[in-house]
Amino acid sequence: MPYSYDDQNIFAKILRGEIPNDTVLETEHTLAFNDIQPQAPVHVLVIPKGAYVCHDHFALEASDAEIIDFNRAVGQICSMKNLQPGEDGAGYRTIANAGEHGVQEVPHFHIHILGGRPLGRMLSGSG
Ligand code: 5GP
Repeated sequence: MPYSYDDQNIFAKILRGEIPNDTVLETEHTLAFNDIQPQAPVHVLVIPKGAYVCHDHFALEASDAEIIDFNRAVGQICSMKNLQPGEDGAGYRTIANAGEHGVQEVPHFHIHILGGRPLGRMLSGSG
């Protein structure tokens, strides 16, 4: 499906430096920053610098270099934030909302990395 990208979305403005962000990690193709309304003690948003609307758009159209860079950044952040499941059993959750049913607020692909407390079951039920 062809996607049209709205370059006025809030993450596009962050990438252009028009809006400040609390950067956690920046690489050649990826930016990660703290969510402005954290839902857990750790709540980091990871976004590609390229203009992709949602996960399937990125997965199908991004270059190998962008995809590798993005996934390595996710791994690095989990390590930096001590989220990796281990003897402490800590762990984390990654979420990528897409479109209307996914209740995506910002139409620039992003992954939420959440951790620092037990996160409950995956879906909250109806609604
Ligand atoms: P979505 O529902 O699109 O997956 O999530 C968008 C996320 O972006 C939300 O968790 C929201 O708190 C976050 N967000 C929205 N505007 C801003 C902003 O200006 N700065 C930061 N750091 N996060 C934002």
